[in-house]
Amino acid sequence: MKIILLGPPGVGKGTQAKFLMDRLSAVQLSTGDLLRAAVREGTELGKSAKGYMDRGELVPDDVILGLIGERMQELGDKAVIFDGFPRTVSQAEGLDSLLERLNLQVDKVVELVVDDEVVVERLGARRSCPACGRVYNLMFAPPERDEICDDDGTKLILRDDDQESVIRNRLQIYHKQTEPLSEYYQKAGILVQVPGDGKVDEVREKVAVAFV
Ligand SMILES: [Zn+2]
Repeated sequence: MKIILLGPPGVGKGTQAKFLMDRLSAVQLSTGDLLRAAVREGTELGKSAKGYMDRGELVPDDVILGLIGERMQELGDKAVIFDGFPRTVSQAEGLDSLLERLNLQVDKVVELVVDDEVVVERLGARRSCPACGRVYNLMFAPPERDEICDDDGTKLILRDDDQESVIRNRLQIYHKQTEPLSEYYQKAGILVQVPGDGKVDEVREKVAVAFV
Protein backbone atom coordinates (compact mmCIF):
# COMPACT_ATOMS: atom_id res chain seq x y z
CA MET A 1 0.00 0.00 0.00
CA LYS A 2 1.48 3.33 -1.09
CA ILE A 3 -0.27 6.36 0.35
CA ILE A 4 -0.09 10.10 -0.20
CA LEU A 5 -1.39 12.59 2.35
CA LEU A 6 -2.45 15.85 0.75
CA GLY A 7 -3.43 19.06 2.46
CA PRO A 8 -2.38 22.63 3.12
CA PRO A 9 0.23 23.60 5.72
CA GLY A 10 -1.21 23.53 9.22
CA VAL A 11 -3.93 20.97 8.51
CA GLY A 12 -2.31 18.31 10.71
CA LYS A 13 -0.83 15.98 8.09
CA GLY A 14 2.03 15.05 10.42
CA THR A 15 -0.33 13.88 13.16
CA GLN A 16 -2.44 11.81 10.77
CA ALA A 17 0.68 10.36 9.13
CA LYS A 18 1.89 9.09 12.53
CA PHE A 19 -1.50 7.49 13.13
CA LEU A 20 -1.42 5.74 9.75
CA MET A 21 2.14 4.56 10.31
CA ASP A 22 1.00 2.79 13.49
CA ARG A 23 -2.18 1.44 12.00
CA LEU A 24 -0.70 0.15 8.74
CA SER A 25 2.85 -0.52 9.99
CA ALA A 26 3.86 1.93 7.31
CA VAL A 27 7.15 3.73 6.72
CA GLN A 28 7.10 7.47 6.22
CA LEU A 29 9.15 8.49 3.21
CA SER A 30 10.29 12.08 3.57
CA THR A 31 12.14 13.60 0.63
CA GLY A 32 13.98 15.91 3.06
CA ASP A 33 15.30 12.88 4.99
CA LEU A 34 16.21 11.07 1.75
CA LEU A 35 18.19 14.07 0.52
CA ARG A 36 20.06 14.52 3.79
CA ALA A 37 20.92 10.80 3.95
CA ALA A 38 22.13 10.69 0.33
CA VAL A 39 24.32 13.77 0.84
CA ARG A 40 25.74 12.32 4.07
CA GLU A 41 26.50 8.97 2.46
CA GLY A 42 27.96 10.64 -0.64
CA THR A 43 26.06 8.50 -3.15
CA GLU A 44 26.05 9.54 -6.83
CA LEU A 45 22.61 11.13 -6.49
CA GLY A 46 23.64 12.62 -3.16
CA LYS A 47 26.65 14.34 -4.77
CA SER A 48 24.45 15.68 -7.55
CA ALA A 49 21.87 16.94 -5.03
CA LYS A 50 24.59 18.58 -2.93
CA GLY A 51 25.79 20.53 -5.96
CA TYR A 52 22.38 22.12 -6.39
CA MET A 53 21.96 22.75 -2.67
CA ASP A 54 25.41 24.35 -2.41
CA ARG A 55 24.49 26.71 -5.22
CA GLY A 56 21.26 27.55 -3.43
CA GLU A 57 19.17 25.96 -6.17
CA LEU A 58 16.20 23.64 -5.93
CA VAL A 59 17.11 19.99 -6.37
CA PRO A 60 15.49 18.94 -9.69
CA ASP A 61 12.63 16.47 -9.72
CA ASP A 62 14.61 13.77 -11.55
CA VAL A 63 17.22 13.68 -8.77
CA ILE A 64 14.52 13.44 -6.11
CA LEU A 65 12.68 10.78 -8.10
CA GLY A 66 15.96 8.87 -8.41
CA LEU A 67 16.34 8.90 -4.63
CA ILE A 68 12.73 7.80 -4.15
CA GLY A 69 13.26 5.00 -6.67
CA GLU A 70 16.29 3.65 -4.80
CA ARG A 71 14.42 3.70 -1.51
CA MET A 72 11.27 2.13 -2.98
CA GLN A 73 13.34 -0.78 -4.27
CA GLU A 74 14.66 -1.37 -0.76
CA LEU A 75 11.15 -1.13 0.73
CA GLY A 76 9.42 -3.41 -1.79
CA ASP A 77 5.90 -4.30 -0.68
CA LYS A 78 6.10 -2.41 2.60
CA ALA A 79 3.38 0.21 3.23
CA VAL A 80 4.72 3.70 2.53
CA ILE A 81 3.34 7.16 3.31
CA PHE A 82 4.82 9.94 1.19
CA ASP A 83 5.68 13.07 3.13
CA GLY A 84 6.20 16.35 1.28
CA PHE A 85 6.08 14.73 -2.16
CA PRO A 86 4.60 15.11 -4.73
CA ARG A 87 3.92 18.85 -4.56
CA THR A 88 3.13 19.41 -8.24
CA VAL A 89 1.28 17.52 -10.98
CA SER A 90 4.52 17.03 -12.87
CA GLN A 91 6.08 15.40 -9.78
CA ALA A 92 2.97 13.20 -9.45
CA GLU A 93 3.37 12.09 -13.07
CA GLY A 94 7.05 11.35 -12.43
CA LEU A 95 6.15 9.33 -9.36
CA ASP A 96 3.54 7.35 -11.28
CA SER A 97 5.96 6.33 -14.02
CA LEU A 98 8.65 5.50 -11.47
CA LEU A 99 6.30 3.27 -9.50
CA GLU A 100 5.04 1.64 -12.68
CA ARG A 101 8.60 0.64 -13.59
CA LEU A 102 8.84 -1.01 -10.16
CA ASN A 103 5.48 -2.73 -10.61
CA LEU A 104 4.02 -0.58 -7.87
CA GLN A 105 1.38 2.16 -7.75
CA VAL A 106 -0.09 4.86 -5.54
CA ASP A 107 -3.02 3.06 -3.92
CA LYS A 108 -4.72 5.81 -2.00
CA VAL A 109 -4.53 9.57 -1.61
CA VAL A 110 -6.10 11.13 1.47
CA GLU A 111 -6.73 14.85 1.15
CA LEU A 112 -7.33 16.76 4.36
CA VAL A 113 -9.59 19.61 3.34
CA VAL A 114 -9.76 22.75 5.41
CA ASP A 115 -10.72 26.36 4.91
CA ASP A 116 -7.86 28.88 4.64
CA GLU A 117 -9.25 30.88 7.55
CA VAL A 118 -9.02 27.84 9.83
CA VAL A 119 -5.35 27.39 8.90
CA VAL A 120 -4.61 31.07 9.48
CA GLU A 121 -6.31 30.92 12.87
CA ARG A 122 -4.57 27.69 13.91
CA LEU A 123 -1.06 28.61 12.80
CA GLY A 124 -1.49 32.19 13.97
CA ALA A 125 -2.15 30.83 17.47
CA ARG A 126 1.31 29.25 17.63
CA ARG A 127 3.79 30.72 20.04
CA SER A 128 7.40 29.71 20.49
CA CYS A 129 9.82 30.05 23.37
CA PRO A 130 12.91 31.93 22.17
CA ALA A 131 14.94 30.35 24.99
CA CYS A 132 14.20 26.61 24.67
CA GLY A 133 12.36 26.40 21.34
CA ARG A 134 9.23 24.75 22.79
CA VAL A 135 6.16 25.42 20.64
CA TYR A 136 2.74 26.11 22.13
CA ASN A 137 -0.64 26.74 20.56
CA LEU A 138 -2.89 29.21 22.35
CA MET A 139 -5.94 27.26 21.04
CA PHE A 140 -4.92 23.64 21.61
CA ALA A 141 -1.86 23.52 23.87
CA PRO A 142 -1.56 26.81 25.76
CA PRO A 143 1.06 27.44 28.45
CA GLU A 144 -0.13 27.51 32.07
CA ARG A 145 0.51 31.24 32.38
CA ASP A 146 -0.52 33.56 29.59
CA GLU A 147 2.18 33.59 26.85
CA ILE A 148 4.92 32.48 29.29
CA CYS A 149 7.02 29.30 28.75
CA ASP A 150 6.13 26.59 31.32
CA ASP A 151 9.72 25.36 31.37
CA ASP A 152 11.76 28.52 31.82
CA GLY A 153 9.39 31.48 32.32
CA THR A 154 10.47 33.22 29.09
CA LYS A 155 7.95 35.41 27.27
CA LEU A 156 6.69 33.52 24.20
CA ILE A 157 6.97 35.00 20.71
CA LEU A 158 5.13 34.75 17.38
CA ARG A 159 7.77 33.52 14.94
CA ASP A 160 8.12 35.12 11.51
CA ASP A 161 6.99 31.81 9.93
CA ASP A 162 3.71 32.05 11.80
CA GLN A 163 2.89 35.63 10.79
CA GLU A 164 -0.42 35.87 8.96
CA SER A 165 1.13 37.26 5.75
CA VAL A 166 3.62 34.36 5.60
CA ILE A 167 0.88 31.79 6.22
CA ARG A 168 -1.32 33.32 3.53
CA ASN A 169 1.56 33.26 1.09
CA ARG A 170 2.20 29.55 1.78
CA LEU A 171 -1.50 28.85 1.30
CA GLN A 172 -1.47 30.65 -2.04
CA ILE A 173 1.48 28.55 -3.22
CA TYR A 174 -0.36 25.45 -2.05
CA HIS A 175 -3.52 26.34 -3.97
CA LYS A 176 -1.58 27.10 -7.11
CA GLN A 177 1.01 24.29 -7.16
CA THR A 178 -0.25 21.43 -5.02
CA GLU A 179 -4.04 21.55 -4.95
CA PRO A 180 -4.33 20.49 -8.64
CA LEU A 181 -3.14 17.08 -7.39
CA SER A 182 -6.59 16.63 -5.89
CA GLU A 183 -8.15 16.54 -9.37
CA TYR A 184 -5.26 14.46 -10.72
CA TYR A 185 -5.85 11.70 -8.17
CA GLN A 186 -9.61 12.03 -8.34
CA LYS A 187 -9.41 11.17 -12.03
CA ALA A 188 -7.30 8.15 -11.08
CA GLY A 189 -10.13 7.12 -8.74
CA ILE A 190 -7.95 6.88 -5.63
CA LEU A 191 -8.75 10.16 -3.86
CA VAL A 192 -10.51 10.25 -0.50
CA GLN A 193 -11.37 13.68 0.87
CA VAL A 194 -11.61 14.11 4.63
CA PRO A 195 -12.65 17.32 6.40
CA GLY A 196 -9.58 18.38 8.34
CA ASP A 197 -11.09 21.01 10.60
CA GLY A 198 -12.47 18.79 13.38
CA LYS A 199 -10.74 17.59 16.55
CA VAL A 200 -7.67 15.39 15.96
CA ASP A 201 -9.59 12.26 17.07
CA GLU A 202 -12.52 12.99 14.77
CA VAL A 203 -10.25 13.53 11.78
CA ARG A 204 -8.38 10.33 12.66
CA GLU A 205 -11.61 8.30 12.65
CA LYS A 206 -12.54 9.65 9.25
CA VAL A 207 -9.06 8.91 7.88
CA ALA A 208 -9.32 5.39 9.32
CA VAL A 209 -12.57 4.78 7.41
CA ALA A 210 -10.63 5.31 4.16
CA PHE A 211 -8.54 2.23 5.00
CA VAL A 212 -11.29 -0.21 6.00
ZN1 LIG B 1 11.16 27.82 27.14
